[in-house]
Amino acid sequence: MNAPLTEQAAAPERLALARTAAATLVPTNAADWRAAAQRVAQIAAEHADDVDRQARFPAEAFAALKAARLLSAMVPERFGGAGLPLSDIAAICEILAHGCASTAMIYAMHQIQVACIEQHGSAVPWQQHVLTQLVEQQWLLASATSEENIGGSMRTSACAVEVEDGRFRIEKMAPTISYGAHADGILVTARRTAESPASDQVLIVALLDQLELEKRGRWDSMGMRGTCSEGFRLVASGAVEQILPTPFAEIADQTMLPVSHTLWAAVWTGVASDAVNRAKAFFRAQARAKPGSVPLAGMRLAEAVGLLQMMQARLAVALDAARAAHRANEAGPGADAPLSASLHFASDMNTLKTSISSTALQVVQEVLMICGMAGYKNGTEFSVGRHLRDLHSAPLMINNDRIAQNTASLLLAQRPAGPGRA
Ligand SMILES: Cc1cc2nc3c(=O)[nH]c(=O)nc-3n(C[C@H](O)[C@H](O)[C@H](O)COP(=O)(O)OP(=O)(O)OC[C@H]3O[C@@H](n4cnc5c(N)ncnc54)[C@H](O)[C@@H]3O)c2cc1C
Repeated sequence: MNAPLTEQAAAPERLALARTAAATLVPTNAADWRAAAQRVAQIAAEHADDVDRQARFPAEAFAALKAARLLSAMVPERFGGAGLPLSDIAAICEILAHGCASTAMIYAMHQIQVACIEQHGSAVPWQQHVLTQLVEQQWLLASATSEENIGGSMRTSACAVEVEDGRFRIEKMAPTISYGAHADGILVTARRTAESPASDQVLIVALLDQLELEKRGRWDSMGMRGTCSEGFRLVASGAVEQILPTPFAEIADQTMLPVSHTLWAAVWTGVASDAVNRAKAFFRAQARAKPGSVPLAGMRLAEAVGLLQMMQARLAVALDAARAAHRANEAGPGADAPLSASLHFASDMNTLKTSISSTALQVVQEVLMICGMAGYKNGTEFSVGRHLRDLHSAPLMINNDRIAQNTASLLLAQRPAGPGRA
């Protein structure tokens, strides 16, 4: 695989400007992280239309994120990172999404990979080295869980790991690897061995110099065009220590799924919130034009704001639940939560994803009705076409129908609450 294309995608002077602007704000305390994210969001917003039009990697925003050392924000302090909790990372995702949904989604996907390595590999020296290098070099990590002929069924793999003399080799036909051509490493799922059933999976951390990526097709999508989610034939080899020791089923339940659903929800909430800000500005301009009367769109604006507040509240509840689950996991295997609590947590994380992904679309649809042609046209301060197109990916990113079916099974396994109990 060639060197990351990140630096080639945008003019060098624009990248240098982005780096300088963000580097002046390398955060030194927790309160500064949000300010740094806001600064990057501004840079991302300046380039968002061009990124979308050209379906190109948001190179300026990532130069700025790296300069502000935001890629290692969740890496624990003992590895040199900032050790921010999930709630702060979610806040950063939401802020970035105000500027550019693709930038925010790439940032979220990267943090999901960091969480998997940190929670399931940080006792392995090779994985510790990855975390320290990630901090030093501000590496960007991608993910290859989906597979040709398997689609979004993340918990099954067709490809299998071959292990010989302490080395592994994997070959995977990956239909979608977001920013695969721009990443410094990719986390890949596969069957444990050629004899293993499809559900006995492992997660492998493969680095750039160990990867061969053959591009298969272009990424010309309705939205999230800056994620450059192309298909690849992926071949990787390396040391067996690169295979995370925890079975993927556990990584998915304990980390990948809850962190993904939480950070994706934060991104979609950020996109919807930026659209609502545009609707509020449009509404105020209308009211100023006709003093003494409340514009017709008032009811719709109230509805959109109410829905957005519900999304924000739902996200806050999920972050509390994720914090509690994390504490329970950290307490060790002896302190395992009862099965009912894990079923509850899993179904809550599922409904978080399905409800926020569909409500975000509803909110932006309302905004479009409020702003009318000014929202429909591209290039106005009230345009929401990109927001709407980007958000149409939300119910598909692991299909909501697939997740709802899984939620239904989890609900069936739960004991219903008695009268008067939540
Ligand atoms: C912006 C974006 C970025 C992505 N980035 C990555 C990435 O970096 N890495 C990666 O691995 N993947 C990535 N994906 C892929 C994604 O995570 C899913 O794998 C993919 O969305 C599923 O694709 P699918 O709709 O073709 O397949 P499926 O989920 O298999 O669905 C196919 C169709 O079958 C139906 N269906 C399937 N299962 C059920 C069910 N149980 N109940 C009812 N109906 C069902 C649905 O109607 C669906 O339309 C990305 C997707 C998007 C949109």
